[in-house]
Amino acid sequence: MSEIRRRDPRREWIARNRLHPEHLSVLAEQGVGAASEWLGPNGVVRKNPHAIGFIGPNGVKRIDRSGAQQGGQAAAEGTRAAQDSRRNVIIEAPAFLVAVVPELSGGRLSGHDKDLLGLARHLADADPEHPGAVLAVVFGEHKEDAFGEAGIDRLLHLDDDAYVGFAPEARLAALSAVERELAPRHWLLPDSPLGGADLGRRLALRLGERPATGVWQIEADGEAPLGWRCTARGAAESLDIQRPLPRVALALAECAEPVDETRHAAEPLSLAEAIPSALSRIEDLGQVAVDPAGVALAEAEFIVSGGNGVKDWDGFHHAAKVLGATEGASRVAVDDGFMARDRQVGATGTWVTARVYLAVGISGAIQHLQGIQSCDKVVTINLDPGCDMIKRADLAVIGDSAEILAALVAKVEQQRGGQRDAA
Ligand SMILES: Cc1cc2nc3c(=O)[nH]c(=O)nc-3n(C[C@H](O)[C@H](O)[C@H](O)COP(=O)(O)OP(=O)(O)OC[C@H]3O[C@@H](n4cnc5c(N)ncnc54)[C@H](O)[C@@H]3O)c2cc1C
Repeated sequence: MSEIRRRDPRREWIARNRLHPEHLSVLAEQGVGAASEWLGPNGVVRKNPHAIGFIGPNGVKRIDRSGAQQGGQAAAEGTRAAQDSRRNVIIEAPAFLVAVVPELSGGRLSGHDKDLLGLARHLADADPEHPGAVLAVVFGEHKEDAFGEAGIDRLLHLDDDAYVGFAPEARLAALSAVERELAPRHWLLPDSPLGGADLGRRLALRLGERPATGVWQIEADGEAPLGWRCTARGAAESLDIQRPLPRVALALAECAEPVDETRHAAEPLSLAEAIPSALSRIEDLGQVAVDPAGVALAEAEFIVSGGNGVKDWDGFHHAAKVLGATEGASRVAVDDGFMARDRQVGATGTWVTARVYLAVGISGAIQHLQGIQSCDKVVTINLDPGCDMIKRADLAVIGDSAEILAALVAKVEQQRGGQRDAA
């Protein structure tokens, strides 16, 4: 076959043009859409030097220093492209089950859940001759549609009013029924306050197991039949403790890499026997509203961040209040005295992980983009359609920040008024 490199001038042009809608998919074809930076298990940023850059017209690798390829959009496009090429895996007769109880914060698998499912896959796939299946037990309503991509083979969805809110006794009764009927080899829960920290400890007590908590790593321990050793944080996080992996493990975020090469069946499963109702001694009185201004930036789910393009700061604060968002800022806004230092987002401020990040009048300097790379959705308001924040954003509104925020506030208030009238 000819060794001559065939050029496609149009695709080369798209690869050079960062504003072209197909830019990222062309980069992904060239194998450079993958995330180039991620946080490792100890919070240290890891870099893949090969993931940076794209192949230029002469076959020479070019590096884009604007930061556009390091933003979450490039990573998300890369992930989407990778999902299309995932291998389908169906485990028909599993040798054993690994049960996972995800926290499903906001009705979707969280990053912590996906890490935990990655850990479950390690345990299930260790012996290719006798593979296990990953069973997820999901309580209440959810909005997730990618259970299979996260590595789940069997899905037990328990959607009953009894499990809504803080209902550890009802959930424990359900997990006990799963234990009786399916007897998973391992139980994995996220060791997070709102996730499995409480439920996992209750489950271990019910099963008569001593759980491993704060687990951040597991390793195979010896030859077949395979045993496992886990490493867990202990003594107020001052020590790493190693011990054989018990049946019940509560794991920290980043305990394993999420599944990204395979797509599993997520086959619905039900229990043969009815789950006995549990006598509840706990009454959930619902959630208490918190002042978003008091939420630490690193924990905030919805952030409205202001930069040098904000001219009406009273309007900005009012908008954040009406939207119920936590306030953040660029370094310029902080240096100019409009926002407190602890509100600065970015490399030298706080690294945030919000589900929605609204950047108002922020240009998208690399130091700022670094701080928002783990945010799910980025929305921006800016006058300049060519700025880097717009390239990073999932949704951009081009216009004056004060006018757009005022229109947004009016819309939200109108909608709330309509809902009040209807009630
Ligand atoms: C060592 C170092 C560390 C740094 N660390 C950080 C950090 O942690 N966090 C951080 O944020 N920065 C950091 N910076 C600073 C960073 O380089 C940028 O200078 C800063 O992020 C720019 O802030 P900005 O986007 O608000 O301002 P600008 O770059 O001035 O951008 C303002 C934006 O607002 C838009 N705009 C103007 N008027 C309007 C309007 N009326 N309506 C809508 N949009 C409008 C403009 O088009 C522009 O895009 C650091 C710099 C250095 C050197």
